[in-house]
Amino acid sequence: MHIWVVVEGDDHGMREGSCEILTAAGNVQGGVLAAAIVLAPNTEDLVKEVTEFGPQSIYLTEEWPESASGESLAEFLGELIEREQPGLVLAAETLFGRGLLTKTALRYQMPFFPDCISVSLEQDSLLFERLWYGERLSAFLTSAQERPVLATWREGLVNVKKRSGLNSHVQKLRPPSQRSNLIRFLEEIKADPRTVDLSEAEVIVAGGGGMGSAAGFQRIYELAELIGAAVGGSRVARDNGWIPLTRQIGQTGKIVAPSVIISCGISGATQHAFGMRDAKKIIAINKDKNAPIFKIADAGIVGDVHEVLPELIKRIREGKENARPMGA
Ligand SMILES: Cc1cc2nc3c(=O)[nH]c(=O)nc-3n(C[C@H](O)[C@H](O)[C@H](O)COP(=O)(O)OP(=O)(O)OC[C@H]3O[C@@H](n4cnc5c(N)ncnc54)[C@H](O)[C@@H]3O)c2cc1C
Repeated sequence: MHIWVVVEGDDHGMREGSCEILTAAGNVQGGVLAAAIVLAPNTEDLVKEVTEFGPQSIYLTEEWPESASGESLAEFLGELIEREQPGLVLAAETLFGRGLLTKTALRYQMPFFPDCISVSLEQDSLLFERLWYGERLSAFLTSAQERPVLATWREGLVNVKKRSGLNSHVQKLRPPSQRSNLIRFLEEIKADPRTVDLSEAEVIVAGGGGMGSAAGFQRIYELAELIGAAVGGSRVARDNGWIPLTRQIGQTGKIVAPSVIISCGISGATQHAFGMRDAKKIIAINKDKNAPIFKIADAGIVGDVHEVLPELIKRIREGKENARPMGA
């Protein structure tokens, strides 16, 4: 089965989620990573990056129209899918990926499975795994239609792996049509890390029962603000009213997969660990050297959070002060 991946990127390069999905698509047993569709301006560097994942073809636009909108991109993608008939088209579960595939699916009447956590091929049928009931149950879904199927894949679940020695055939196509430009893209405004959905956060500072009180928990907010991280916590933190339910990490809270999580005064109970086990780096601060959190941590400090955190915050502040350019 031919699998396509819609690649998302900007001037800084390819989005991590696109790298993950290119990796995952190449790993689907019985599937072939047939094409990557690069829908972005300044594609030159992106194409180089995409080639490292070895899709057979890379489709991109001859030039990027000033007024490219979700509608015109959906039209571009939809017509390409109609013409080439791949079995599956994947994108990252992002605002862009979800928006684009939703519009394409609606317009071209294609089956769409958003927010999947895995995709597999079982006896020529595609199986899409999604989490249901507050993420406590896995549901496996399949499409009753044989048309090309669209799906978005949740970010942070796949370890990126490039494949060497493969050549991609780059094809430039006419840019998205201007016919349906009802909406224009103006600018991208970065989300405020303090309010960003925890499951999308790159860096998280999380606090637990060891923070002791609402006043003690303020240190978590202070550190998070200083390093541009999102705030999370354990159920004890939530039960004490230091964080809302949307900030609780774990089995009955959010599943997170940040690059780094700093876990402060959290025991690391199974139900909590379940929600943060996919973090790439776990740094734990706990006064009990036998706390289970140290079993899953990459780095740890055995100490009192009320001593360690103020010192850490002070040192980061000093580091930032010293890093300021002369005269600023
Ligand atoms: C069905 C079910 C679902 C659950 N779902 C979740 C969930 O989604 N998320 C979740 O988090 N929990 C969940 N729990 C609860 C879970 O079992 C634990 O009770 C909870 O995670 C404990 O939170 P905690 O580690 O912050 O607090 P505590 O158990 O109070 O642990 C505090 C930790 O901080 C350390 N500490 C104390 N004082 C200091 C200090 N001054 N400096 C440094 N370290 C200190 C202690 O050594 C200890 O390790 C669930 C439980 C059940 C039964």
